[in-house]
Amino acid sequence: MTTNRRDFLKIAGVSALALMTPSLILPALARENVRLPGQDYTPAKSLTARRWAMAVDGSKCPASCTDCIDACHAVHNVPDFGSPKDEIKWIWREEFPRIFPEENHSYLPQKVRSMRPLVLCNHCTNPPCVRVCPTKATFRREDGIVMMDYHRCIGCRFCMAACPYGARSMNYRDPRPKIKKITPDFPTRVRGVVEKCNFCEERLAKGMLPACVLACKEKALIFGDPEDPQSEIRTFIQNHFTLRRRPTLGTEPQIYYSL
Ligand code: SF4
Repeated sequence: MTTNRRDFLKIAGVSALALMTPSLILPALARENVRLPGQDYTPAKSLTARRWAMAVDGSKCPASCTDCIDACHAVHNVPDFGSPKDEIKWIWREEFPRIFPEENHSYLPQKVRSMRPLVLCNHCTNPPCVRVCPTKATFRREDGIVMMDYHRCIGCRFCMAACPYGARSMNYRDPRPKIKKITPDFPTRVRGVVEKCNFCEERLAKGMLPACVLACKEKALIFGDPEDPQSEIRTFIQNHFTLRRRPTLGTEPQIYYSL
């Protein structure tokens, strides 16, 4: 009986030690997306890349479709003020000559001229918006996502002036009453704060693709790591002629358009 009790205590002790072993603890924490202080630990479920980018396959993207726009704006609590003056937009459509002014000329085929490709933040490799932000409310992550910290934004709109793509929107009024249905998974913003597409970084952290990519039934949006030679986006970019918006500015935009 004494021996049995001693064996039991030994086993219990070993089990307790094993439970304290980081290799066992960390995956459990990762499941909960918890980061230990000072520890650079990527949760096992998150999607990671050396740099994130997107390709838009125009041949599969009907101009009348708004599935991706609706999905993005729903998951990110984007308000609808119903007027262009106050409009908040993360992803939207615009006429070809406005998006690609360098490609525009008098003899542009009507088919191309009437195109309305999707536009969003280009998550530029050299983002001018980041350079001008006085409070570091906007910053670029190592994986290329240009982020917004809504709490640090003082609404100076320097970033809006610096962005050559009109990718940022200012909340001139309280957006909360104008959100159709608030989703608790993403923070709402307040008056005086600038916002834009974040490449669904909050979803990537949970192992999910961006909402626009999943919502597209035509599979016209390809999201991934172009630095990975095996990735779908790298294959797509290598096999299609693609355009980027105003590349001569040196911003290195990371949205690739195939017409
Ligand atoms: Fe900044 Fe505009 Fe480039 Fe987005 S598109 S990273 S907002 S400069």
